[in-house]
Amino acid sequence: MINNLFREDLKEFKAYVPVLNDKKVILNANESFLNLSDNLMDEALDRIKDASFNRYPDGCLDNLTKLYSDFVKVSKNNVMVGNGSDELISIIIYALLNENDSIVTLSPDFSMYKNYALVKGAKVLEYKLDYKFNLDMDRFIEFINENKPKLVFLSNPNNPTGNIIEENQLIKLIEKVNSIVVIDEAYVEFYGKSIIEKIYEYDNLIVLRTSSKALGLAGLRLGFLITGDILYKEVLKAKPPYNVNKISSTVGEVVLENPEIIKDNINKIIESKLYIENNFKNFPKIKSYKSYTNFVLIKYEHIEALYKYLSERDISIRIFNGELQGFARISSGTLEENNMLLKTLKSYFKEMDND
Ligand code: PMP
Repeated sequence: MINNLFREDLKEFKAYVPVLNDKKVILNANESFLNLSDNLMDEALDRIKDASFNRYPDGCLDNLTKLYSDFVKVSKNNVMVGNGSDELISIIIYALLNENDSIVTLSPDFSMYKNYALVKGAKVLEYKLDYKFNLDMDRFIEFINENKPKLVFLSNPNNPTGNIIEENQLIKLIEKVNSIVVIDEAYVEFYGKSIIEKIYEYDNLIVLRTSSKALGLAGLRLGFLITGDILYKEVLKAKPPYNVNKISSTVGEVVLENPEIIKDNINKIIESKLYIENNFKNFPKIKSYKSYTNFVLIKYEHIEALYKYLSERDISIRIFNGELQGFARISSGTLEENNMLLKTLKSYFKEMDND
């Protein structure tokens, strides 16, 4: 039987299969609700028209890397581009972990750190945030130093809680552990405080960024890894040579040539998040958590019923199981989408009250 050839340790492992998203209002994946403007789309299509698809992409992605490094104000030599930051997480793990090494991550946090580490055959130790989703950094450092993982992964701001860890706490972590610390800043543009420049001070720091949120390019799959010279060389060993295709890099370049548009879009997204965050306060049965991202985490006793109600009315949100049973994560949308969500929430609670 072919099953005999499969890995015993992955027998119970569940692959992450994204759901088919055929709803009219998509608020489940923390994407940007803003697509390229018509002008930028025309510019991108124009450039793609001239591309030589018979040739491999520029292996070092010179232009895109330069534009991104200017955008985040680091040297071009410290930026690696990936097929989404998802791919970069797997590259870090493949470059740095042996089987039986371990990683430490938070719970809750982005699930792909754990998934890739398990597929690699490494051990995953999860450190639980408190009931308000805060982290006691001193205890966390103790936990890390007891367990001696090679890698520590955390997202800041955190997905799915929307909460943040202050910079001085992160610096303490980086300074006091003998592990490589990966700070995933997928949502940092909405928070405004990055740790990226610290790669020049700490050789055990890797920062991850993505174009999928603030830059509005989730469909292109462009992620960025930023680290010091020593780690850069090591991580590079696991990078596939042509991991980013020409269409993605070309469109990414067009967007990054217009940082003022990116800034404008970030402000629009922050405004949209504030709008839903403030309006959730009008629903006494919903508890919402302060968020520094483009989404809001909520808690509600009958979350599955609410999810179903919204889904039947063409609105998708994200619910969870396990320790986040009873919670939902809702991305901010256009004003029209947000209002549709809020109107539907109102009608849901009205029906509940009349029951
Ligand atoms: N890190 C975090 C914290 C995320 O929330 C996500 C996307 N949900 C990613 C990484 C993956 O981003 P990308 O689209 O660049 O693969």
